[in-house]
Amino acid sequence: MSQNIIENLVTQLTKLPGIGRKTAQRLAFFILTLPAEEAKDIASAIVDVKENARFCSNCFNITDVDPCAICSDPSRDSNRICVVEEPSNVLAIERTGIFKGTYHVLLGALSPLDGITPDKLKINALINKLKDNPVEEVILATNPNTKGEMTARYITELLKPMNIKTSRIAYGLPIGSDIEFADEVTLSKALEGRRDI
Ligand SMILES: [Zn+2]
Repeated sequence: MSQNIIENLVTQLTKLPGIGRKTAQRLAFFILTLPAEEAKDIASAIVDVKENARFCSNCFNITDVDPCAICSDPSRDSNRICVVEEPSNVLAIERTGIFKGTYHVLLGALSPLDGITPDKLKINALINKLKDNPVEEVILATNPNTKGEMTARYITELLKPMNIKTSRIAYGLPIGSDIEFADEVTLSKALEGRRDI
């Protein structure tokens, strides 16, 4: 067997975040031992996500159907909208299994110094959605760091005149951390301990 094809796979895998050369080598040799079907499933999942992934026109989560599975699920409570920064945050909260409402993904957090002003995020889309369909509660689940807090405060100010109950997740998540990397228990506690703001 030519060493080049393994070497090529290792090089490709090191492009992934958090994957150093050693891990890439381990993964490459693991993939080598997989049944052909399973290896093809991995490869085609990567191609599939690039070819078919788009944003839900309602909540801006990543989806292959529009509206997404959560927005079009009649068993979800559309009176409760959980606002998050990134689609990966939706996945994290879904893993806890305790939130039965719907989402709104901002596709980022405010960071004026980096040029991320409110118009760069899906904030207007959220406000317009709430004007057309007022809900009972908006849960601000942006990250508990400076940008996330700034974003939550900004949205809170916009929601005040609309008389919509606004809550912020807080308890359980360490300050300066990222929702994406929180474990299910911590994230569940944070959601349960949300407070009015
Ligand atoms: Zn959606």
